Amino acid sequence: MKPLVLIVEDEPPLVEVLRYNFQSAGFDTLTTMDGEEALIMVEEESPDLIVLDWMLPGLSGIEVCRMIRERRKTRASPIIMLTARGEEGDRIRGLDAGADDYVVKPFSPNELVARARAVIRRTRPALAEEVLNYGGVEMDLAAHKVRREGRAIHLGPTEYRLLRVLLERPTRVFSREQLLDAVWGRDVYVEERTVDVHIRRLRKALNGAEEADLIRTVRGGGYAIDARAN
Ligand code: CA
Repeated sequence: MKPLVLIVEDEPPLVEVLRYNFQSAGFDTLTTMDGEEALIMVEEESPDLIVLDWMLPGLSGIEVCRMIRERRKTRASPIIMLTARGEEGDRIRGLDAGADDYVVKPFSPNELVARARAVIRRTRPALAEEVLNYGGVEMDLAAHKVRREGRAIHLGPTEYRLLRVLLERPTRVFSREQLLDAVWGRDVYVEERTVDVHIRRLRKALNGAEEADLIRTVRGGGYAIDARAN
């Protein structure tokens, strides 16, 4: 699953440069020019990183940053602030408002992408790692092998991708639609109940006779991998 970066910037040429560079570097991108819309997108899309311009029309980047930090659901979202201001006082204000890093314009897009990777490694280590571990389940992405408490688990390709998406963000609840997008892709039409079928198969493969069910079903919500589920 590619990391998703939300670009909040009101200069269209810069938006294009950023979008191009992030996509070339293997990120999925979302963009908005508006701080209010950014807040909605952060809540709905849970991006892995927000690249946030300080100077925006309407809500300023610093206000957006502060509001993201104040809301329980979005509090942990990683943020890199972007700004033309280079003074030390501004840098401190940005970090005070809760930014994880700070890049001064003009900057090289490659440098920003490198900083973005560093922030994601720090805040979402699962996205950068070769082995995912949670609740006694170990997924070796390089060897394409899954184990639970040391026992080999054999999964079909769809169940494997499904488990990977869940393991990359343990305890997070994914809607059926989000799982469809992540596992089957946005361009493929699959019915939502197909997700239920594959979750059932994943459960069967993953849960041994005496073992707790690691997959949490949230009525009307979706699914999560959650060791505290049962
Ligand atoms: Ca701007």
